[in-house]
Amino acid sequence: MEDSRTIETATMKMIEKAKKDNVETAWDRAEKMKPQCGFGETGVCCRICTMGPCRIDLVGDGPKRGVCGADADTIVARNLIRMIAGGAAAHSDHGRDISHTLLMAAEGSDYEVKEPEKLIAVAKVFGVETEGKDIKEIAKETAIKALEDFGRYEGLTLYPYTANEKRKKIWEKNDVWPRSIDREIVQIMHQTHMGVDADYVNLIQQGVRASIGDGWGGSMIATELSDVLFGLPKPIETEANLGVLEKNMVNIVAHGHEPTLSDMIVQASQDNELLERAKAVGAEGINVVGMCCTGNEIVMRHGTRMAGNFLQQEAAIVTGAVDAMIVDVQCIMPSVTQVASCYHTKVISTSPKAKIPGAIHIQFDEKHAYEIAKKIILEGVENFKNRIPEKVHIPEEKSQAIVGFSVESIIKGLDKVVIASAQPTGTVKPLVDCIVSGVLRGAAGVVGCNNHKVQHNYGHVELIKDLIKHDVIVVVTGCTAYACAEAGLMKPEAKELCGPGLKTVCELVGIPPVLHMGSCVDCSRILILLNEVAKYLNLDISDLPAAGAAPEWMSEKAVSIGTYFVTSGVYTVLGVCPPVLGSKNVTKLLTEDVEGIYGGKFAVEPDPHKAAQLMIDHIEAKRKALGI
Ligand code: SF4
Ligand code: SF4
Repeated sequence: MEDSRTIETATMKMIEKAKKDNVETAWDRAEKMKPQCGFGETGVCCRICTMGPCRIDLVGDGPKRGVCGADADTIVARNLIRMIAGGAAAHSDHGRDISHTLLMAAEGSDYEVKEPEKLIAVAKVFGVETEGKDIKEIAKETAIKALEDFGRYEGLTLYPYTANEKRKKIWEKNDVWPRSIDREIVQIMHQTHMGVDADYVNLIQQGVRASIGDGWGGSMIATELSDVLFGLPKPIETEANLGVLEKNMVNIVAHGHEPTLSDMIVQASQDNELLERAKAVGAEGINVVGMCCTGNEIVMRHGTRMAGNFLQQEAAIVTGAVDAMIVDVQCIMPSVTQVASCYHTKVISTSPKAKIPGAIHIQFDEKHAYEIAKKIILEGVENFKNRIPEKVHIPEEKSQAIVGFSVESIIKGLDKVVIASAQPTGTVKPLVDCIVSGVLRGAAGVVGCNNHKVQHNYGHVELIKDLIKHDVIVVVTGCTAYACAEAGLMKPEAKELCGPGLKTVCELVGIPPVLHMGSCVDCSRILILLNEVAKYLNLDISDLPAAGAAPEWMSEKAVSIGTYFVTSGVYTVLGVCPPVLGSKNVTKLLTEDVEGIYGGKFAVEPDPHKAAQLMIDHIEAKRKALGI
């Protein structure tokens, strides 16, 4: 079976089933949308005041300026940094919620500090004195300091101080150190208001500042404090793809982003009262599975199975076997309730920030987290008996995967190849040794979403296969992680697809060639790992034989992620072109000039094989520059 929409068999089957069941999917809607507007696609449409909407004619003799006089450079730059603001806001609001959950854990709630050692490490970043204090006191002071980083009124955000010395100097010199996480986002909205900033370079500079506030601020705080609260991910086995849904169990899909909800859902699903009730309605048990990034959060920490990525959310419901889809925030297609209305599935929204017409809303409240989680699951349990048997079809496809590679667990894993009596343990030295000797040519981070403009999962899988064949170790997050798990790239046998160097490393350390590092906010783990290696070698991130890619990206969050990677020194290849081509100047700034400033730059290459080659060439050029 071949399908131009996806490479993934279970999804193909569900697309076919959707057609039979008369259900519309994202691919159908994308088809109806064609041709998409060229003004929007190239970024030259502006509607930020009511003198517009204005559009710039790039090819004919139509308007070259908006009614206010804004030209293509201004309009493109303004639109782009508004995307960064959207992305940075989404990540940062998530980080704020996690900080607040830590505060509640300190003051007494259903949450607790699971990793005191990591809390102490984070406390140090914030300058919190830990000596002689009890853990709750440290948690409280750290949470307050973290919350201050979102809106501090003097000084600079504290987390970026963890970057290596060279990187910090670059940010200082170019005046892009975020003052506070929220402030930079607000300033984007001000600066892009009608009649404020018209200088595309200055506009992009503000986008950079906000993105650093995301990667080295909001996202990093979200990841670090999630580890403190929910536990440090460690390698664990799991399964991925729609085949993880169970015919005889209550299937609960946890979809969205914040572990505050999904972690409690996993805990509550083991509650005896609920398990009894599940049996009473004829089910063998409760099967919680993950989708998108909240799925990544629980798979990393509990090994919860992974149902699917962004473009599989409708397909999951089309199986007819999802009794409840529990959602919080971000990347939840509003269409899920429409799809659900054709089956028995209940969509349950939980966040006051994200209500969806047609969903049942049960507001999650961290103060009564466990009880509410139980109440939400009960909705799914009671709904089991409403399944429509003739509409149930669960595809059998599922793949084994090893997941749970936090920076800490990677370093611990590397210790296996260290002779403890002769070398220090707990450092990145073994990784550095492999790279310096050339056993590994380099490392790549592949991240991001799905997008109907790319055959589903094709971009991720093909690009990554080329990289590992060239002995480049790959770390992934977000929806890329699902694509890799589903394609079998996260099981030990995937070593057979690697070059000889990477294969040997996989065998010695006992890891797959593609390491799952978590959710989208966990892209900050990739920054931390790169930064640790750079610090160890007394280099900057931009000196390392490393590259990044987002082959199927779609969200504003991905724009912010791409920007903070580039401005942290990473060469980053995008598989989907951002809406910037309407301005030659902005395009040149992002794909050429920016390298001279930050050491990283963007490239756009829709063909994953060519994209992989660009990354490999970059890695080899960096090796040459280092003389290794
Ligand atoms: S800000 Fe200028 S370009 Fe934008 S809609 Fe208003 S008049 Fe048009
Ligand atoms: S990778 Fe993209 S689509 Fe997937 S959860 Fe993250 S932002 Fe959403």
